[in-house]
Amino acid sequence: MAGFPAPNILDPTQQKGREKRAYADFRRRLRAINAEIQDKVVAQLQPREIAVNGLRAYLLNAEKVYIYELDYPQLRRIDETIAEIIQRIMMQRGEQYDNWFQAYTAEAYQQGAAYAQSSLAVQSAVYSSAYSNIESVLFTPEYQRRIAVVTSRTFNSMEKFSGDLITTTRQILGDTIAQGKSPRWAAQQLKGYLVDTEGDQKKAASRAATIARTELGVSYRSAVMDESQRASESLGLVTKLLWVSALMATTRKTHGEKHGRLFTRAEVTDFYSKRGESVNCRCSQVPTVVDENGEAFVKKVISKMEAQESRWMQSQGIKEKAA
Ligand SMILES: [Zn+2]
Repeated sequence: MAGFPAPNILDPTQQKGREKRAYADFRRRLRAINAEIQDKVVAQLQPREIAVNGLRAYLLNAEKVYIYELDYPQLRRIDETIAEIIQRIMMQRGEQYDNWFQAYTAEAYQQGAAYAQSSLAVQSAVYSSAYSNIESVLFTPEYQRRIAVVTSRTFNSMEKFSGDLITTTRQILGDTIAQGKSPRWAAQQLKGYLVDTEGDQKKAASRAATIARTELGVSYRSAVMDESQRASESLGLVTKLLWVSALMATTRKTHGEKHGRLFTRAEVTDFYSKRGESVNCRCSQVPTVVDENGEAFVKKVISKMEAQESRWMQSQGIKEKAA
């Protein structure tokens, strides 16, 4: 089949560049949150500093205790300031969407739709005459409805992330006050959590990286699935999905072993509906026109992919099943 898109195993969902930009955007916001909380909360704390074991221990630089004389309204105000800063920065509106990150996932969706459109157009004359270019796909009401599903999912993820940032940040400040730790300790903990990417704390940055990768991948794959479904519903085109894995050292066996195999939409949807399968997934699927036996026309591409998969299995020390 002339023009069948060669599967890109280096970046199956073509999202690496966008993922990098989105992650940088997350990091920039996390740094801004940290700076503002340091400034408006931590720097405002004025505890009394006392030595635990009297003056002598104090002079010997033994452990100190910090007494925070804060009343209930003051404590509530700290919590509210934290929430306000995080909400304003992490839930900031975008130009077109309720949240800035939705623009990234909407673009990923559009790229997936364009990829599905061009793949189907080279495989089917019926499809290419009905949808000759990506614009003919983008302005359909179905497309608008489908992109709304993806962007609302993104919004939910961002709300959850912001909520977790608020909870953990409040906990750090709460522990500081309750345990009589120094403001400097609080500053370090906050930086460790919000900004640093190394160390043993549960990092906001690593959560952000997971969100960026997961949501962009889900958006891209959803577009491919949606477009192949629409092609089959509106034109009766019989397609399956050719699985493309990145075949990396970190690729899960259950994802890598699907490389070069054909699945129905139901099978793919079912796979991803299981908990955690879409998290950090870099796989994608190419809508592939099949014959009446469910076999692909692009046999050469598939046998090449099977060889890639065998090499990956060997390099990972995975034994191939007989048959
Ligand atoms: Zn995967």
